[in-house]
Amino acid sequence: MKIIETVHQFEYQCVQSPRPMGLVPTMGNLHKGHMSLIKHAQKDNASVAVSIFVNPNQFGSTEDFSTYPRNIKSDLDILKDANVDIVFIPSIQEMYPKGFAASIDVGLIATRLEGEFRPSHFNGVATVLCKLISMSRPNNIYLGQKDAQQCLVIKKLNDDLNLGTQVVILPTIRDDDGLAISSRNIHLSESQRKAAVILHESLHVAKNLWHDETKNIEHIKLQMCKVIHTQPLANIDYISIANVETLEELKHKLTPAIALGAIRIGHTRLIDNIIL
Ligand code: AMP
Repeated sequence: MKIIETVHQFEYQCVQSPRPMGLVPTMGNLHKGHMSLIKHAQKDNASVAVSIFVNPNQFGSTEDFSTYPRNIKSDLDILKDANVDIVFIPSIQEMYPKGFAASIDVGLIATRLEGEFRPSHFNGVATVLCKLISMSRPNNIYLGQKDAQQCLVIKKLNDDLNLGTQVVILPTIRDDDGLAISSRNIHLSESQRKAAVILHESLHVAKNLWHDETKNIEHIKLQMCKVIHTQPLANIDYISIANVETLEELKHKLTPAIALGAIRIGHTRLIDNIIL
């Protein structure tokens, strides 16, 4: 496994790598969700690169950049055991040298839902992904459905800027009780961890009601809120039933649709979604 810290070396190694090559971009503190992406990438490609970079430009000034869980030593052990070919672990300085100024705005899709609560988040995501894709020119890039809006932003980035990779989106990996696995779950206390499953439960309620012909969308959203409110530790940022491609809020039951939610439990923010 090649561990690379500079852009120049990363570009060089990726050009040399057997093709097709898959890229799995991460912020580290690797878990089963990341590993599922890596395993799929290894099945589809002759070589796989994983990037680990906690990207400061996608965190707002009041968000958890400084406390975001980092565990580089254990991440490298995991990736070595998994036979990953290339790991890219750049410093902030390496990714954003003095004078760096570009910021990619992919338009409306980035302004909805997460975009309302985290206004510059997707500019940061799109910009760093554009850099990573430009450096490595992967044939395929692997993303998790857990971050549904991020997937749409990166698809749009790839299409609009002709980056020429294939975006592969893989299912959300969950704990036994249904909670979507996330690096941030580590911050939850025992009682908060128990409470966190309420988001997944509310999305299941939405899915069940969606198939009930008599219910309208407002009713479904009300029921989702009611479910979440049964858990006093949970605060809702948003719940949404939206068009699966545009994330435009639906007024009537049209397919394809997706239910999404974001809640806060203590200082930890959780997101999840379910295709209806
Ligand atoms: P992160 O390190 O949180 O930025 O995530 C890196 C990639 O892993 C993103 O494409 C995420 O959507 C994906 N991912 C994170 N958690 C999960 C999960 N539980 N299941 C599947 N993919 C995930």
